[in-house]
This record gives sequence, C-alpha cells and structure tokens, in this order.
Amino acid sequence: MAPKRGRTWTTARTAHRNDEEADRMHTLAIDLGGTAVKLGVFAAGRLVADDEFALDGELSLDALGHAVDRLLATAQGMGEGASSPSDGTPRAAAVPAQAAPAAAAPAVGPLAGVGIAVPGIVDPAGTRLLAAHGKYAGLHDVDLSAWSAERFGRAAVVENDARAALIGEAADGIARGATDAVLLTLGTGIGTAALIDGRPLRGRHGHAGVLSGHVTVDLDGPRCPCGNIGCAEALASTWALREAAARGDLDLGPALAARHAANRTIGIRDLVATRDEPQSAALLDRFIRVWAAVIVAQCHAFDPEIVVVTGGVMRAAGSILPELTALVHEHLWSSSFRPPLVTPDAPATSVLRGLAQLTSESHHQGAPHHEGPR
Ligand SMILES: [Zn+2]
Repeated sequence: MAPKRGRTWTTARTAHRNDEEADRMHTLAIDLGGTAVKLGVFAAGRLVADDEFALDGELSLDALGHAVDRLLATAQGMGEGASSPSDGTPRAAAVPAQAAPAAAAPAVGPLAGVGIAVPGIVDPAGTRLLAAHGKYAGLHDVDLSAWSAERFGRAAVVENDARAALIGEAADGIARGATDAVLLTLGTGIGTAALIDGRPLRGRHGHAGVLSGHVTVDLDGPRCPCGNIGCAEALASTWALREAAARGDLDLGPALAARHAANRTIGIRDLVATRDEPQSAALLDRFIRVWAAVIVAQCHAFDPEIVVVTGGVMRAAGSILPELTALVHEHLWSSSFRPPLVTPDAPATSVLRGLAQLTSESHHQGAPHHEGPR
C-alpha cells in the first residue's frame, strides 16, 4: 500500500489549494540516540509533533514503526480513536512503553520525506549504518532506507547524528549563515562533524569529520572499542566515566561517591554539580582539557568560523564553555583564526531539524540519498 508521491497524507480531508497542500506536506525525522530515540514530524519547516522514548535493550524496527504510527496519528489530528484501517504491519513483540501502547496502527499516508540519524558511520549512499561500536548491533548493515520505503512509503535519508546536528544548526540554528563550522557533541560518547564551504564533509567512505572524538590524546591510554589507543572518547566521555567508576578506578570525593552509590552510576553532570570538591574538579578539568584538544584538532583540520559545542552536559555551559574557549584559543596554531565556541539555543532538537533539512533537500533533488561521496 505504498502511497503515491505528490499527495498530502491527510487524504481524508476535502480538496485544498496547492499552496495549502504544500504547507501540510510532512517530513518524518527519527533520531536513534545513544540512550533514547527521538521522533519528530515537520510541516513547512516547523516541528509540529515530537516524541521520545528511552532505549531499553535492542531496538526493534517493528516497535519503532509503531511509535512513528502513533506520532503521525497525533500530528494528523486523528487521535487514538482513528477509524483508519491498519497498515497490516505485525504488532511489535516488545513495544516501548512510553511510545507505542497497544492501539491499532493508524494508516500512514504519503510523507514528503523521512530522515534517520544513527550514532555511527553511514554508507556514502545514505541508506544504512555501517559501524557504531556497541550500539544498535541489530541494525548494522540493515538497509534502513528500504525499510522506510516499505514501512512509510518513502525511502529514508540516513545520516550520522553529529553531522545531522551540524546541518540543523547551520540551517536554522546557532551556526545559521556559516559556511565553515565544526560541531562537538558530548553525549554518551563524543560526536563530531564538519561543514566546509557550506557542505557537510563526508569523504570518500562517509568517515570524514565524524571521528574527531577518536583522536589519540594519550599514547599510553586504554584501548578504545573503535580499535585505536587512548582516544578522547575513551578518556573523557560519559561511557568512559561510567566504566572507570564501575571499575573503582576513580578517586571520588564524598559528594560524588554519594551520587554514585545512590544512582549506581555517574555522569558528567555529576562532576559539574560536585566540582567544589577537589576530586571532581580534577576529573572535570581533565575532561575539559581533552575536549579542548579535540576542538583544536578540528580547527587545525577544518578551519571553521564557528565551533558548536552541544550535548546534554552543555546545560552547564555557563561553567564549562568559558574554560573550553580559553584553552582552545590558547593552544591553536599562532596564525589560526580564533573561532567563537557556542551552544545551540535548542540542542535537544538539532538532530531532528538537520534531518528535516536533509530530507527537504533530497525531496527537491528527487533522490533519497546523498549527492555522493566527496
Ligand atoms: Zn576510539
């Protein structure tokens, strides 16, 4: 029941003028994050509905499809009592509790485009996740673009999440108008991306710009799951902190130790919250120096006019960004431009907005994939 191109998906409504129909063309954005899945529906460039559910174990595409159905029904104004026929997709075995209750799947009409962001390397054609160490193992090398075409009637553009975030911030966010920018996102790991001459950098095999978190900052450091030694991400990321704390390798002050005992884990925000004790201050100082080294490497490689620093920990940007900026500016090559370090106004939606931008570009080009490797 693949929908036909060029029709709005609110087909039950009466005829409308073409411009009104264009305004109602919707795009779907799916952000497969390290710990949660975010969904967004865009109309006329605006986010009109969104949802989020925590990732609990391996993600099933059936469960994801049902979560999308529910969000589209909400955006469509149909609600749960919709009388639309089921699309016939089998019910998911394990549906995320917060996202897809046991309701009949509503009919999903034609979409203008679908974008999917993944926390790893995508193939140059923009159809699948090639590698994301330790994450979404069940989706590796699955043609997500073809799945989307079958499930939602529109082939998806698949993109690395950090690259999508930078595309979003360059399109309508904090880096709007910039032609040369880099992004560092502090999530579970360290994501990076680069924009050169107004185009997201992808490289011949899709790896360009997105692996700066895996620059070696300690030749005697631990082996990273990526295969390299002493990566920035293996030393100063949320997962590295959690693993070091679980091993008992960290010198925790009383306040941080109490948080670790209460929550059975700690995050970078716990370091920020307890930095008035010297142990936390020392850990956070080392993390900030590692992030600064990554940004210096990005600036030397890509010569940006602006550096976007984002991720959940940047909610504490007031205390981190000035130190990070001072370190980066101090250590850059002498004649290098000193770019401002900035945080997005709406960091939670930058990936979704980037996907909406990518899908609209693909829609206008009439192709569900990137323009090709470069
Ligand atoms: Zn690594």
